[in-house]
Amino acid sequence: MGKALIIGAGGVAGVTVHKCCQNSEVFEEIMIASRTKSKCDALKEKLEGYKTKIHTAQVDADNVSEIVKLIDLFKPDIVINLSLPYQDLTIMEACLLTRTHYLDTANYEPLDTAKFEYKWQWEYRDKFKQAGITAVLGSGFDPGVTGVFSAYAQKHHFDEIHYLDILDANAGDHGYPFATNFNPEINIREVSANGSYWENGKWVETQPMEIKRVYNFPQIGEEDMYLLHHEELESLALNLKGIKRIRFFMTFGQSYLTHLTCLENVGMTSIKPIDYNGMKIVPLQFLKAVLPDPASLGPRTKGKTNIGCIFKGIKDGQEKTYYLYNVCDHEQCYTEVGSQAISYTTGVPAMIGAMLVMDGTWQMPGVYNVEEFDPDPFMDALNKWGLPWQESFTPDMVE
Ligand code: NDP
Repeated sequence: MGKALIIGAGGVAGVTVHKCCQNSEVFEEIMIASRTKSKCDALKEKLEGYKTKIHTAQVDADNVSEIVKLIDLFKPDIVINLSLPYQDLTIMEACLLTRTHYLDTANYEPLDTAKFEYKWQWEYRDKFKQAGITAVLGSGFDPGVTGVFSAYAQKHHFDEIHYLDILDANAGDHGYPFATNFNPEINIREVSANGSYWENGKWVETQPMEIKRVYNFPQIGEEDMYLLHHEELESLALNLKGIKRIRFFMTFGQSYLTHLTCLENVGMTSIKPIDYNGMKIVPLQFLKAVLPDPASLGPRTKGKTNIGCIFKGIKDGQEKTYYLYNVCDHEQCYTEVGSQAISYTTGVPAMIGAMLVMDGTWQMPGVYNVEEFDPDPFMDALNKWGLPWQESFTPDMVE
């Protein structure tokens, strides 16, 4: 059917590239382009044998004209942005200049301020509409599938959703005392920030890890989970009608929290540059360099993830609860595509979103979050491409 340019060659990109190759009727040709070309070449080497034709290239995605040049050369139908949130705006700008569809998995965040929000990307709405191109924001798992689950619940199960709790549990064990499952810099910026939730039309801010709950997850069991601010809260607060409260909880083990507290206390998670032997270094970027590469955790990680949404609202005048979730096994992901489940649960939805744009199902000129599209084809594709979902009408609720 067409061509996709994939920017980034890390843990998530590794999975998306695999999935595009498994889906070669849609992804006839892909180009993997990243800062370090050898990583793109290594991915290509692993995937020789599939029908999808793979090209590789070096690109600095902070530089609009370099991206434009690459798009002009390869002429993709869509750019799948799997680099870092810092590159979202330059890649969107290049897509606009070349009239190419765009998809990402994380919203823009300035390098020097640990604050992610959609406002910068939503400013492109009119420009993308006028150019006749589609931007799909946040097509990973969370954000991503959590937005699709919400749209599905709204379409098929509720007249109004009043309460939504998004629960992200990772019961995987990689055997390291401390490692992150996706880019360490982005992960630590996210979890060390203040928490917040949406209630009655406004944000309620909390201290990091201030609100803790214990939840008995299907197929995982009891885990401690903590309230975090998370990007899909911002768009779902606007897109779910009648919503009164949305919260996001993520599980963390005691070893992770103890290490994180210690690293914060000694200043290693700071993003303020410091002088070191005549050089400027950012402590968090240095920490990233000494931590295990998330893409290397695949062969060591055992256990499962369970990520899903618990809804409470009204259907036909009656109160109703509904839980939609996916359980993913780290070892099965490794057997299939050589990665752990966090990269897998992000990389598969990125391929699915891109497929739906390429085949026209999700083409809608403008800039949209995933819950603004029809969820049904995405829900079918999740079952087909490795992330089957399960549902319960009598879930345990989070207090
Ligand atoms: P990695 O750090 O493993 O990979 C990032 C890739 O982007 C690397 O290949 C890196 O190159 C490349 N890159 C960074 N800067 C540039 C640049 N300026 N130009 C070109 N390439 C660049 O990250 P992950 O794969 O773990 O995460 C990828 C994205 O997925 C992140 O934005 C993350 O926030 C998001 N994510 C989303 C989730 C969701 O559910 N929605 C969950 C998990 C992650 P190099 O190899 O040279 O460093």
